[in-house]
Amino acid sequence: MIQTVDWGGNPNKPVEVTDDGETRLSPRKSFEKWQETVQGCSLPWRACEIEIVTELRSLIVGVILKQADDLAEINLELERSNTELDSFAYVASHDLKEPLRGIHNYSNFLMEDYAELLDADGVAKLNTVVRLTQRMEDLINSLLHYSRLGRAELSRQLTNLNEVARQAIDTLRISQPQSSIEFRLPRPLPTIHCDRTQISELFTNLLTNAIKYNDKAEKWVEIGFTQSGKGDPEDPLLYTFYVRDNGIGIPPHHLERVFQIFKRLHTQDQFGGGTGAGLTIVQKIVERHGGKIWVESTIGEGSTFYFTLAARQS
Ligand code: ADP
Repeated sequence: MIQTVDWGGNPNKPVEVTDDGETRLSPRKSFEKWQETVQGCSLPWRACEIEIVTELRSLIVGVILKQADDLAEINLELERSNTELDSFAYVASHDLKEPLRGIHNYSNFLMEDYAELLDADGVAKLNTVVRLTQRMEDLINSLLHYSRLGRAELSRQLTNLNEVARQAIDTLRISQPQSSIEFRLPRPLPTIHCDRTQISELFTNLLTNAIKYNDKAEKWVEIGFTQSGKGDPEDPLLYTFYVRDNGIGIPPHHLERVFQIFKRLHTQDQFGGGTGAGLTIVQKIVERHGGKIWVESTIGEGSTFYFTLAARQS
């Protein structure tokens, strides 16, 4: 609303400057009416309008606060059930070990003391019980290890990944002296701030799989990385590592499922067996370090596992 305001004199009366340069305010000499046209302002708000707006504001604030409260509650609940699940997995696997050991030992006693009373079929069945309890123990140990990983605090330290990769390669060479495997490192790996024990388990698991699920006469595994980010707080340095093999490959519809616990794509007697927990553990390690993991693969040609790790904890 354009309005005309009457003043008892010009409100912008200039300050007088005296001869010696001093500035001073002097009494107004004219009280002539001075009019000003005011634009871009509304009519004064009415009391009821101010009341309504205040009410509206407190309603909106109330809704937002309620939503924030609900979200905080859901987060807390989620955190609680995660911790409960972790401790459940831990307690369950820990407590299952003892009776299982009993079954295993008693089956062995039966075998030692009563094998001659059984026929070949009976001995074979008893052997199966022993084998299955052994397998169950392997699965429980994997679950126990997995749940421990989720509970343990990360112990971050500056870690030279060349050393970590070298150690994993040396361990593999010792455990598989007969096979010819070429390990490729196109350029030196960086040094990052991470839990050294966990990251070396990650490399060992990925390298073991790269060799295990490989039917080529000339096996090779390549470990490399790309980097992004400038390394300042707004744009931290992020590495994307890869472990590439020329193995059997993974069918497209299994690319995500290989990370599920106890998920194996082969029977126990193929490719040296396993519990199917290795990649679940690898995924947990990457996620605990704030990274992501995924795999690309071509059947018969090979697979590439990618994972991201920050140079420093943000
Ligand atoms: P495990 O090796 O004990 O079976 P993992 O969790 O390490 O368990 O792997 C899950 C499954 O994913 C394996 O059984 C295998 O079928 C598949 N897999 C893992 N790594 C590779 C690889 N590099 N190439 C092909 N298949 C793989």
